[in-house]
Amino acid sequence: MGHTPRSVLVTGGNRGIGRAIAEAFVALGDDVAVTTRSGGAPEGALDVRCDITDADAVESAFAQVEAAHGPVEILVANAGVTHDTLILRMSQEAWDTVIDTNLTGSFRLAKRAAKGMLRLKRGRIILISSVVGLLGSAGQVNYAASKAGLVGLARSLARELGSRSITANVVSPGFVETDMTDVLTDEQKQTIKAQVPLGRYASPAEVASAVVWLASDGAAYVTGAVIPVDGGLGMGH
Ligand code: NDP
Repeated sequence: MGHTPRSVLVTGGNRGIGRAIAEAFVALGDDVAVTTRSGGAPEGALDVRCDITDADAVESAFAQVEAAHGPVEILVANAGVTHDTLILRMSQEAWDTVIDTNLTGSFRLAKRAAKGMLRLKRGRIILISSVVGLLGSAGQVNYAASKAGLVGLARSLARELGSRSITANVVSPGFVETDMTDVLTDEQKQTIKAQVPLGRYASPAEVASAVVWLASDGAAYVTGAVIPVDGGLGMGH
């Protein structure tokens, strides 16, 4: 039996984890759209420009995706930023930017996606959080707070939308080899690896596997879950 293509939207799908997620859905034969600010969607995916801090841009991105692929059935809210520093040095702007992108951006996306999913009476909302959301991280109060907020967002969506067969889950990666972690010094990378039971970083494809599973028929009864892909770093949450 062939796979019926699903309308998938992945934010931040031009680089790192988002790119691996988009490529995995393209490989399955789905209709994949990728939002980026700077272009460069993977081959086979529709490239839609969208800054997720701009509600009008989010609306326009969904309109473009709906025109090309129909209502979004699988939303992967992946785009995110860091702006790290210790709390006494953290500017209001550093706080606001990270919360506005990672948490409020996911709210904007989930709200718009829910509209179409409620009509379809099915859907998968997958939010990309981080192990530090529940573990905490010195120098990342803004980032950790934004990522912890995604758990409350997803679990509330799971309760609001469950009766329409819409699931909402969180994937919580540990350290993954991408541009975001490339800025760390070799010493910082070694310290992190020493704390990870599996003793290494994840590849973006390993995060994508969990996302693809949450979007699959096999995960139809999984909602409000936080799935760690962290090499064991966050065990005990
Ligand atoms: P990258 O820094 O490699 O890529 C970030 C992506 O987010 C880019 O595609 C970027 O688009 C997009 N983006 C950032 N801000 C906006 C915005 N305002 N509007 C639209 N798109 C935006 O990140 P990773 O691949 O490493 O991370 C992806 C997700 O995974 C993030 O949410 C991150 O917090 C999370 N994560 C990452 C971990 C890691 O170790 N790398 C660990 C745990 C979680 P553009 O190219 O246009 O700038």
